[in-house]
Amino acid sequence: MSYDYDVCVIGLGPAGMAVSIMAAEMGLRVLGIEKRSLGGECMSVGCIPSKALLRTAHLRHAVSRLADFALAGVNPPEPVRPFEHIAEHLRFIDEKKTRAMFAKVDLKLREGPASFVDSHTVEVAGRRHTAKRVFVCTGTRPAVPPIPGLSSVKYLTNETVFGLDEVPKSLIILGGGAVGCEMAQAFSRLGSHVSVVHMDEHLLPNGDWDAGRFLEDVFAAEGIEVHNNRRISEVSETSGGVVVRTNANETLRGAKLLVAAGRRFDASELHLENAGVEVDEHGICVDGALRTTQRHIYAPGDANGAYLLSHAAMHQGMIALLNSMLPRPFRRNFRRYVVPWAVFTEPQIAHVGWLERDLKANDVEYETIEAKYEDYGAAIAEGNAVGAVRAYVSPTGRIYGTRIIGEGASEMINEWGLAIQNRLRIHKIMMLQHAFPSMSFLSKRVAEGWMMNRMKSPRVQKLIRFLG
Ligand SMILES: Cc1cc2nc3c(=O)[nH]c(=O)nc-3n(C[C@H](O)[C@H](O)[C@H](O)COP(=O)(O)OP(=O)(O)OC[C@H]3O[C@@H](n4cnc5c(N)ncnc54)[C@H](O)[C@@H]3O)c2cc1C
Repeated sequence: MSYDYDVCVIGLGPAGMAVSIMAAEMGLRVLGIEKRSLGGECMSVGCIPSKALLRTAHLRHAVSRLADFALAGVNPPEPVRPFEHIAEHLRFIDEKKTRAMFAKVDLKLREGPASFVDSHTVEVAGRRHTAKRVFVCTGTRPAVPPIPGLSSVKYLTNETVFGLDEVPKSLIILGGGAVGCEMAQAFSRLGSHVSVVHMDEHLLPNGDWDAGRFLEDVFAAEGIEVHNNRRISEVSETSGGVVVRTNANETLRGAKLLVAAGRRFDASELHLENAGVEVDEHGICVDGALRTTQRHIYAPGDANGAYLLSHAAMHQGMIALLNSMLPRPFRRNFRRYVVPWAVFTEPQIAHVGWLERDLKANDVEYETIEAKYEDYGAAIAEGNAVGAVRAYVSPTGRIYGTRIIGEGASEMINEWGLAIQNRLRIHKIMMLQHAFPSMSFLSKRVAEGWMMNRMKSPRVQKLIRFLG
């Protein structure tokens, strides 16, 4: 049977971009369909604008702390209007960078949502296109919890918060995950009075729990209110903003309300049933090769609900495309690759591999080795003496996992990811010369700490005495 295209990609976020650009580079005939904007959630209402907002907030905060660096006399900055600035940057990236990458892709942009007619035919704006392989990369939408009154108030989500005209005087955030925490610090540092309300025992429930508690202390010092373990009984609106009532009999008032309470897969437009593609409560069902219940249809990225991270989505896009062309024995299982996780608050928080609670739950024997920023001259001199690099290591030096709190954590975690993914023992990190005085030098210190502990063993000391 002949098809109009070799590859059809529905949704051009990080996953869809990876598939379509790589497929086009390989010389395949590619149709890319995107109903909103190139780059997906990540580019327009996710990673990029959130990090741009955080950057502005951190800079403003740094300026207000200049006196700490013996630069007294500099006045704290005036309130800022960052959203226009962010929109300008996004326009530039879209027009000058992203579009250029799609030169070889037959692009159906903003023509409307794509839907399946059958397993090889996709319809968009009334036109049908056939393809040999289809990649569903449609991501997720913000989840809105069924809280009494919520549907009748004007609330913000990540899809609307970056379009505000100005920083609100006060902001209530529903959700204490990575997005909720990043937005809490960003808006607080830009001048809002922020309250975070959420159901879990501490912030960052999907991450390292100690790190979540650590962040709570940081937030408390910055004046951000955190209400853990709360159920919201009602949300209502007044002329001054929103009112949130909790099960602890609190009444919180804010000029704006941001819902950052997780994600949901929305299959309503796709008509997956016409293609024989099954979904469950997480998203589209996929096997390790990222194949759906229809063998020529793949679902990389957030749409399958596995990781909900941009780098994972891009990686899965690449793997799904390769798998779609490789014979079975050569196909890759996307779950075999480690996925680093980072929160871009200040200090940053990151982990890769096993969390300590997983090791405990699985009765794994491990040793914790830590190097603190406060013991590192470069970190002290640069005013970054907060946090630690911590690795969980087996008695034979196998690295189970690493957690970093502190300056540069999102960069430093990648070295540990490489080591864990390639099953390198920790002495390999020790034997790598790390540029000094970089923060990643602390990773080498962790590895040295592990080796020093080995040196303390009576057997090793006996051997050293014998040799010496
Ligand atoms: C505020 C915020 C901050 C974040 N920060 C980070 C971060 O720092 N690091 C990180 O790794 N991740 C971050 N994420 C998560 C990240 O944005 C997602 O994991 C990533 O965008 C998922 O990529 P994707 O390609 O799977 O889906 P998406 O980026 O959601 O792209 C899906 C695309 O499909 C399109 N689409 C949907 N249905 C159809 C249809 N029927 N027809 C045509 N097109 C369709 C959509 O318009 C969208 O453009 C953040 C998310 C949020 C909300």
